[in-house]
Amino acid sequence: MPVLTFARGIFPPHRKSASQALPIEQSALPSEVVILMSQHAGAPAQPLVEVGEKVLAGQKVGEVEARITAPVHSPVSGTVSAIDSCPCASEGVRRGGRITIKVDENQTAAPSSSVEEVTPDSIRDAVHEAGIVGLGGAGFPARVKLSPPPDRKVDTVIINGCECESYLTADHRVMLEESESVVDGALLVAQAVGAQTIVVGIEENKPDAIAAMKRAADGRMSVVALKTKYPQGAEKMLIQVLTGRTYPVGKLPSDAGCAVQNVQTAAAIHAAVRRGTPLIERVMTVTGAVKNPKNLRVRIGTSVQSLIDQCGGFSRTPGKVIMGGPLTGVALPTTDVPVVKGTSGIVVLAAEEVSEASAEIPPCIRCGRCVRACPTFLVPSQLGLLAQNKMEDIAAERYHLFGCIECGSCAFVCPAKIPLLQLIRSAKSAAMLGGTTR
Ligand code: SF4
Ligand code: SF4
Repeated sequence: MPVLTFARGIFPPHRKSASQALPIEQSALPSEVVILMSQHAGAPAQPLVEVGEKVLAGQKVGEVEARITAPVHSPVSGTVSAIDSCPCASEGVRRGGRITIKVDENQTAAPSSSVEEVTPDSIRDAVHEAGIVGLGGAGFPARVKLSPPPDRKVDTVIINGCECESYLTADHRVMLEESESVVDGALLVAQAVGAQTIVVGIEENKPDAIAAMKRAADGRMSVVALKTKYPQGAEKMLIQVLTGRTYPVGKLPSDAGCAVQNVQTAAAIHAAVRRGTPLIERVMTVTGAVKNPKNLRVRIGTSVQSLIDQCGGFSRTPGKVIMGGPLTGVALPTTDVPVVKGTSGIVVLAAEEVSEASAEIPPCIRCGRCVRACPTFLVPSQLGLLAQNKMEDIAAERYHLFGCIECGSCAFVCPAKIPLLQLIRSAKSAAMLGGTTR
């Protein structure tokens, strides 16, 4: 049987060999953590603590009443040393404040307990209370995904084990080392949404993960090998490949009868329901131009620089430090920023691997490569041009701007090095704010 895949897409170099065989290590206890109030799509949380207050590891320190939001928890016990607004990192996408906590030498955990009677409602409540968001990077609150509208029947749960971005190996290790937790989380997701079918999709370049997940699944769900192609792990691509279904721009996977969760999100749902553990740490890959690449279990709020130090520091002069993968991640202006729930990795590119950013956007040479790469059949060159000319309203109305899944394939293949993804993202932001006045 041919290996399943979608039309178009790209084949970036894998660059996973430095870390894919390395077991997950617990990262060192930091001396300070910085908890951002907005680590998710939707309304930022509001601080529940005050400066000088003592907190326990796992204690909820921020939340807000809203349909789309998630509470945040302290990953350590310590003392709140500052509460202020967030000037940092993920600038442009992070709103709201931040809480800084000075970490105690001896750690004390807040009490926690498992869900007594596991029902769809109690699963959703536990997932929300634990602050779980999609750990694939999008940060969409998991409770919302587990609550499809009553008029939509979700019959299929898809567990995303593709990890199709170059360099990243954290999900791969979780499937190998925590396959039972991922399987139990998948069963809980299916129970919450009322689905009968569960499919785990994994790229075929991870045969050991496919074998481990099949063993753990023990016939309770299918584990399907998918072609190693980017962006195989995008929700739209996964749904199309595994079910043959599609859904229009502006609609959700539930419109195609599906609920999609990343493997680490499934493991976090297992921990929340079975043990009452909030989302205070996650597995991420720290790799590229560092001396000792690692897959680390990291407390949320730990600084990027301290993770680089734990990996022996830079191995070559750094040119770019990326939070996330090289195609969709964010280049950091400084390493003095905290990791958030959606941080799947830290990738350091050496200076010689990074091309000089030109002050001016180069002209399009009309080669058509971006069009042939786009998995959602858009015309990225046209979107880029409209974005440059502040014509995002036309890009949205006539060229399906919001059909872009921000995979970065177009920018990757563009020989002119036009920053297409950056342009498209800024056009989307401008269009959401009502469009630019021309
Ligand atoms: S236009 Fe969007 S969806 Fe298409 S390749 Fe570019 S980033 Fe991906
Ligand atoms: S790949 Fe780049 S140069 Fe080629 S058509 Fe697209 S935007 Fe233009």
